[in-house]
Amino acid sequence: MKNVIFIAPPAAGKGTQSSILEEIGYEHISTGDMLREEIVKKTEIGMHIESIMNDGLLVEDEIVFKLIYNRLKNLNKPFIFDGFPRTLNQAISLDEMLNKLNKNNYEVIYLDIEMEEALKRALSRITCKCGASYNTQIEHLKPNKDNICDKCKQQLIVRNDDNEKAFKIRFETFMKNIQPIMDYYLKQDKLHIIDTKLNTLKITDMIKEILK
Ligand code: AMP
Repeated sequence: MKNVIFIAPPAAGKGTQSSILEEIGYEHISTGDMLREEIVKKTEIGMHIESIMNDGLLVEDEIVFKLIYNRLKNLNKPFIFDGFPRTLNQAISLDEMLNKLNKNNYEVIYLDIEMEEALKRALSRITCKCGASYNTQIEHLKPNKDNICDKCKQQLIVRNDDNEKAFKIRFETFMKNIQPIMDYYLKQDKLHIIDTKLNTLKITDMIKEILK
C-alpha cells in the first residue's frame, strides 16, 4: 500500500479519514497529536510549544522533524501524515528524509473545504488524546456514548485551539503556505484534490482508489 500525505485546512476531516485508514493497516502520524502529547507529558519541548500552539502558530521545523524521524525510522507499515508538511520547506526536507529511509512511495491528498464550514466543524469538534476525533453536530461523527471515545473509552475534550480566534489564525496560516506546497506536489504528479462536500464514506472510497 502506498503512503499518504494529507494536506488540508484544519477541521477538513484528515483525522476522521486517517482513523478509517488505520483500520486497514496504516500508521496514523499526526504532528499535532504528537506535539499535544509533549504538552500533556510536560516535557521540555511541551513547555516550549504550549503557547505557540494555543495561539494557532507553527512550531519550529527542528522540533517537528525530530518527532517525525523517531516515529518513522523503525516503522514497518504504510503511514499517513496528517498535518505535515505545513510549509514548502517542510515538504522539501521531508522528501530528503523519506529518500534516506527508502519510504518515498506516497500520494498527496488535499481535502478541500471552505473556511466557514471548517470553522463550524471545529467549534463542534471533540477529540480524544488517542487521536480520534468526533463531532457533536454531525450525526455519523458523534461518539456512541456522549463525551467518551469509542476506541479507547477515555473522556473526550475540546482542543484549546478549537476556538474562533485561534482557528482563524490556523486556517489563514494554512492558506498562506499551501499554494507552493501544492505546486511542488503537482509537479511530481502526486497531488489529488477531494471535495469535502462529499460524504465521509465516498471520500474514503476515493482515497482507497488513489492508494491502490
Ligand atoms: P493540527 O492538530 O494538525 O491542527 O495541529 C495543531 C497545531 O500543532 C498547529 O496549529 C501547530 O501549532 C502545530 N503543528 C502541527 N503540525 C505542525 C507542523 N507540521 N509544523 C509546525 N507546527 C505544527
